Amino acid sequence: MSRIKFYNTLTKKVEDFVPNVEGKVSLYTCGPTVYHFAHIGNLRCYIMEDILDRTLRYAGYDVKRVMNITDVGHLSSDADTGEDKMLAGAKREHKTVMEIAKFYTDAFFSDCKKLNIRIPDVVEPATHCIPEFINMVQELLNKGFAYVAGENVYFDTSKLKEYYVLSNQSEDDLKVAVRDDVDEDTNKRNKNDFVLWFTKSKFEDQALKWDSPWGVGYPGWHIECSCISMKHLGEKLDIHCGGIDNIFPHHTNEIAQSESFLGHKWCNYWFHVHHLTQKGGAKMSKSSGEFLCVDLLEKKGYNPLVYRFFCLQSHYRKPLEFSFEVMDNVKAAYDKLKKQVARIASESAGQSVDEKVFNECKEKFIDTLGNDLNTSSAITLLYEVLKADCNNATKKAIIASFDEVLNLDLLKEEASDKPAVDAELEAYILERIEARKEAKKNKDFATADAIREELAVKGIVIKDTREGTVWSLSE
Ligand SMILES: [Zn+2]
Repeated sequence: MSRIKFYNTLTKKVEDFVPNVEGKVSLYTCGPTVYHFAHIGNLRCYIMEDILDRTLRYAGYDVKRVMNITDVGHLSSDADTGEDKMLAGAKREHKTVMEIAKFYTDAFFSDCKKLNIRIPDVVEPATHCIPEFINMVQELLNKGFAYVAGENVYFDTSKLKEYYVLSNQSEDDLKVAVRDDVDEDTNKRNKNDFVLWFTKSKFEDQALKWDSPWGVGYPGWHIECSCISMKHLGEKLDIHCGGIDNIFPHHTNEIAQSESFLGHKWCNYWFHVHHLTQKGGAKMSKSSGEFLCVDLLEKKGYNPLVYRFFCLQSHYRKPLEFSFEVMDNVKAAYDKLKKQVARIASESAGQSVDEKVFNECKEKFIDTLGNDLNTSSAITLLYEVLKADCNNATKKAIIASFDEVLNLDLLKEEASDKPAVDAELEAYILERIEARKEAKKNKDFATADAIREELAVKGIVIKDTREGTVWSLSE
């Protein structure tokens, strides 16, 4: 029996995860469109996908994860309407599309680093895969699933046995939900047909174009993910993840074109993360108030890992309401947790790890996360370890192990940047810092200064920062 189960949007139920090849997982993530900084709402999705990735690895799977970077096109609508986000970004900043792509790709990975999100094993920009896109479009034309109209190539949704495989949407619902683009885009034969390749676009100055059998042009958005996934993960994909926004039309269209191209089922599990919301439940978006990005969190004095901790405390399939008041509470909880862990670590020298307890906790942790990625229960389990009836060395080992998945830098204080300090000295320093803090709180500045001096004499320099007091060895 599988130890990992999670909600599969395709079957609409929580299912045991069974990969195509025993012990191995092929995992695909829709990457960002790199025309702006990533909103923390989108980053919630990447954090939860990171937890899925790490949970699978922790449970012993050999995971290969692939992500695309949308650096070409990406219209805000499926038809040839709306605006091209990349081009809009370039115009806004008076740069070329490739300069914009480079800048915001780097910014995205810098955010990921700050949030302790693992970079996928393969990251592929769409502009690197033009021959693959052309090949798939050609094959879809050969098989009769696509047609050329108005000098663009379209996917013909009327050729499918079933189109709405991921959602319960009916034709009528969609008429209400989606702006009717048909009269703006008269080339389409059916309302939900989508562009595979553009040669004729409203965007006269589309910067990036490539030669193709249908003329000079550029790919539609959906084709990217199908091709990039198959290029690196083969014809059968285990898990495809993304935000719930992607269910329709993006993932629906990915399935349509991929399975028509392959002639068989493509992906078994679809994993979707819910929205970050603001008070009142509305989805947080770029247009509402301050633009919430990692940079802004840092400017407001939050360690980005506090945001990660905040995301982990709620279930990925529920909307998560964001506010700075909640962030303040989470920050206080995070700081307290780190102090507790630091104390445990400092009092663990010379003790031996109880392997039995360690292994039991590890198993429990896998079962907790394996139950539809219940991160809030995993955090509860972490707090139980702090109070558990075992020695500190065992606790420290368990915390370090859990943090392989949670990745909250719980033990970072004693990481490699202070290699010359043994546990005893560190415990002493932390105790003195705590005593000084207490003295300052009581406005006993003489004692506080004396403690600073006492440490300085021993070659230890302390500095008060927004994150609390940090120390280093003097040169
Ligand atoms: Zn995608």
